[in-house]
Formats: sequence, structure tokens, C-alpha cells
Amino acid sequence: MLVHDTTATGRSQAEADQIRQSLRSRYDELTAEYEHTLAQSHVLRLVEVGDTAGDDQADSGTKTAERDTAQSLLRTILERRAQFEHALTRLDEGTYGFCEGCTAPIPVERLEIFPSATSCVACKQTRERRAA
Ligand SMILES: [Zn+2]
Repeated sequence: MLVHDTTATGRSQAEADQIRQSLRSRYDELTAEYEHTLAQSHVLRLVEVGDTAGDDQADSGTKTAERDTAQSLLRTILERRAQFEHALTRLDEGTYGFCEGCTAPIPVERLEIFPSATSCVACKQTRERRAA
């Protein structure tokens, strides 16, 4: 059984490596997802460029909507990927697993579900309330 230690100095090299590996593999997955989505949106654009003559209004409206969806998906993927990149940086700094807001250790259960989390639930909610 894995012993989780939430203090930076207490985390063993092996544990840090394991976390790094899982963060990196998610990062790579998101990169692949991004490239896939990007390729698809290129296809969509090519279809649109080659296919505009004779389109009625409704058709081009659908294509615009599809392109907007692809763009917002790409943004979401990039944001998620940035979170994993950020988590990897914090792992290297030895601050991974600690809240950026209140510096308290983030519960291990939360990190298991959201490995890229860099703040505790309370600080995240406070931030979201402020942003809203
Ligand atoms: Zn916090």
C-alpha cells in the first residue's frame, strides 16, 4: 500500500516520480486530444472554404456553430493542459500538494480525483465566487 505523505520533505523520490509520471501522461493525453481536435477543425475549415458556393444561410450557420464549438473545446483542452503543466512545475518546486491560497496540504483524496489541483476546495470556491 502506498503511504501518502503530504509534507514536501516527507514525500519520497519514488512517490514524486509516480505523481510526475501520472501528471505527464495526462498532459500528453491532452496534447494528443488538442492535436486531434485541431486537425478536425482544420478539416472543417477546408470543407467550409471549398463548399461555400451554393450554401444557404442555414448551412453556413451550422458550420459556424461547429467551428465555434471546436474553438471552445480547444481552449478548454489548453486550459486543462496548462493546469497539469502548472502542477508539474509545483512538483519540481516541492510545493505540489499544498494549497496556493492558504498553503495547507490538499487532501490526498482530492489529489487522487484531481491530480492537477493546486488549491483546496475552500480556496477554490472563494476564488470562483470572486470571479463570478
Ligand atoms: Zn486553501
